[in-house]
Amino acid sequence: MVALFLYAVGMKADLHCHSTYSDGSYTPSQIALLAKEKGFDVAVVTDHDTARGCLELKNAARSNNLEFFSGIEISSLYENKSVHLLGYSFRLDSSSLLSFEKRVLEARRRRAHSMLIKLQKLGFSIDQDALLPFEKEGVSLGRPHLARLMVEKKYVLSMQEAFVRYLGEGKSAYVPHERPSVEEAVQLIHESGGIAVLAHPQLYKNRKLVKRLMERYSIDGIEAFYCRFRGEDTSYWAAYASERKLLVTGGSDFHGAGKEETEYGVSLAPPDSVEILLERMKAHGV
Ligand code: AMP
Ligand code: ZN
Ligand code: FE
Ligand code: FE
Repeated sequence: MVALFLYAVGMKADLHCHSTYSDGSYTPSQIALLAKEKGFDVAVVTDHDTARGCLELKNAARSNNLEFFSGIEISSLYENKSVHLLGYSFRLDSSSLLSFEKRVLEARRRRAHSMLIKLQKLGFSIDQDALLPFEKEGVSLGRPHLARLMVEKKYVLSMQEAFVRYLGEGKSAYVPHERPSVEEAVQLIHESGGIAVLAHPQLYKNRKLVKRLMERYSIDGIEAFYCRFRGEDTSYWAAYASERKLLVTGGSDFHGAGKEETEYGVSLAPPDSVEILLERMKAHGV
């Protein structure tokens, strides 16, 4: 079964993980340490709609003798569904990326406050200032931050409960956020010199939709290895990628205490893919 392959040789990296720059609980420097402890070759973070944590990660990687390339997970829209696109090995000083981050991070900040107002109207006593600790430069605010506050205040027993009852799509405190189309997100990654990969294809629960969008846009790869995939899902998407000569990637989607269902360093990508991504970053002279 493909999903159980262990890579004995070649480059190792966890290509999907979140830091404190979005909804993860480990700083980029702590993620670099985890990569070191696991014996990986490269440290990567893929925060929601922000690559600002990559600067800290780059320094931490260097101090730990690890390689580094940039990463991001962009929330986009396709046929009214939320689709996540991973971007790798793009230039961190790309003007398209910087203006995207400026616009989307501000929109996410406004949206978190609108959702908080809805929660207050529902009777929850959470002050607007409660979001302040997360409102740091370059940080992407999201629903998990609100869920965490609700757990801290003991209004819910778990973040999952906060989502199911109040924060999930269509629930009473939900507010949608500004998202680019898949086409715009892919264009942004390419304009910035990066490689675009469709994240967790099986999570959309619609293989036809995934194939439609893969055929329509110039997405370079697909995340066939993912913490929550069954072996048969991984085999399916790895075969799909191989037929179309797409890059196969994988990662844990580690969030630390932000989402405890997965641990760092599982569902790794094939070493060849890690090497291709690293070479792309090096081609930018970084
Ligand atoms: P946002 O981008 O702000 O809409 O938040 C999306 C994030 O919320 C995703 O990255 C997930 O990690 C998290 N999330 C979505 N649904 C749930 C859920 N039911 N339980 C816990 N976390 C969730
Ligand atoms: Zn997340
Ligand atoms: Fe995702
Ligand atoms: Fe993710």
